[in-house]
Amino acid sequence: MATIVIVGRKNVGKSTIFNRLIGMRLNIVYKEPGVTRDRIYGEVEWCSQVFNIIDTGGFFLGGKEELAFKINRQIEYGLAEADLVYFVVDAKDGLKPGDHDICQSVRKSNKPVLLLINKIDCKHTESEVLEFSKLGFKNSFLVSGEAGIGFGDVLDKTIKTLPRMTKKRMRKSIKVLILGRPNVGKSTLLNALTKQERAIVDERPGTTRDVVRATFKYQDQNIEIIDTCGLRRKTHIKTSVEFYSMIRAVNAIEDADIAIVLFDTTEGVVDQDRRIASMVLSKAKSLVLAPNKIDLIKTTNRNRIVPSTYKSFKSLEFVPIVPISAKQDIGLEQLLTCILSVHAESRKFADKTVVQNMAKKLQNPTNGFLVSLKQVNTGPPIFRAALSVKVKEHYIRYLRKSIRGYFGFKGVPILIKTKSVKPPRSRYSL
Ligand code: GDP
Ligand code: GDP
Repeated sequence: MATIVIVGRKNVGKSTIFNRLIGMRLNIVYKEPGVTRDRIYGEVEWCSQVFNIIDTGGFFLGGKEELAFKINRQIEYGLAEADLVYFVVDAKDGLKPGDHDICQSVRKSNKPVLLLINKIDCKHTESEVLEFSKLGFKNSFLVSGEAGIGFGDVLDKTIKTLPRMTKKRMRKSIKVLILGRPNVGKSTLLNALTKQERAIVDERPGTTRDVVRATFKYQDQNIEIIDTCGLRRKTHIKTSVEFYSMIRAVNAIEDADIAIVLFDTTEGVVDQDRRIASMVLSKAKSLVLAPNKIDLIKTTNRNRIVPSTYKSFKSLEFVPIVPISAKQDIGLEQLLTCILSVHAESRKFADKTVVQNMAKKLQNPTNGFLVSLKQVNTGPPIFRAALSVKVKEHYIRYLRKSIRGYFGFKGVPILIKTKSVKPPRSRYSL
């Protein structure tokens, strides 16, 4: 899936535009649990095409943004991974020196750019808008994030500009992606699992989508482990790492079956871990959480790791947690077994009769009926619920929870598609 990155000075309207665009995706079937409020990643759908969108604003909050140089470095890293850039400027403010700075970074990236001149709902003089032509972008659009003006054209152009992604689906191995912040032990884990020194570190900044892959057999299953590396530049520009790794993760998750989110037990869970976990699920991929470096925790305290991890990741009680030490080879067998079982879960078809019987016992939505429920796909499991009324998200959550209660699907996001049908004569008819 292609990735768009939104850049621009503070307060030009990036997150307003971001929210408007992701709001246009109508059939979101899996809403991630409310882990973090400030969303920075979402998907946009236009003319049956879906693409990723990332709001850089969410990364550079507060005073940091004043440091133009740093921002530019950060943006440059992120842009290296993007397929298209939305460069947002503010028609109310007119052209500002900060716009020029960002413009330079954008140009350096050699990525296609759409210039979005935002806030055109405000009173502005023609000359202010004309001023932006000094930036020299071929494709510019007058928009209002707040009023929702101009986005049809932006998205039409987006589709024409983005590369056509063809899906190749050759599933011979289980693709497992290792995600986590720098230093949590990703490459150590990759090495430990494959028992070879394969994790070659690429020190070049922002080059390609360099990921390290290694394939091995476990219990007759081919497992391909993928480590999103290229994050070893820990020494300088610390703040860029989060943004950069996020973009990498977005691109890599697409291709994986399961993601292991690794974190350092001695440091605990941070917002970025939650963001990444929630992104994995919203991309309908399976998830395993692995608190690493448990060798540094006293043996007597280790039984606290799992409950405290569940506490840190709210609403993820269906996700398995396997405490490990990548370095000391503790828990790795369990981790691999867990990967196999989560994979099997994601391929599972729930017994049709049991689903029907379960559905008969479920509560109906307010003022309506759950007419039928059935599993229509696997990997990830998709259920279709026929309903006589439109339902809110909490009813979908209720269905999901009920299905989980009956069938497990441990570690796997359950997708629910709703279909409106006429109310039945009897309460439940299949
Ligand atoms: P960001 O810092 O670039 O993410 O900017 P925000 O999206 O937070 O917007 C900054 C301010 O501009 C907020 O007060 C928004 O309500 C306002 N804003 C955003 N888009 C528009 C728009 O199209 N028109 C007007 N009038 N205000 C807008
Ligand atoms: P990455 O940046 O996530 O790939 O992290 P690395 O694999 O490079 O590991 C970062 C540091 O943590 C290295 O010094 C590792 O030796 C150390 N490390 C990794 N796993 C463990 C572990 O299970 N226990 C301990 N004590 N240290 C670990």
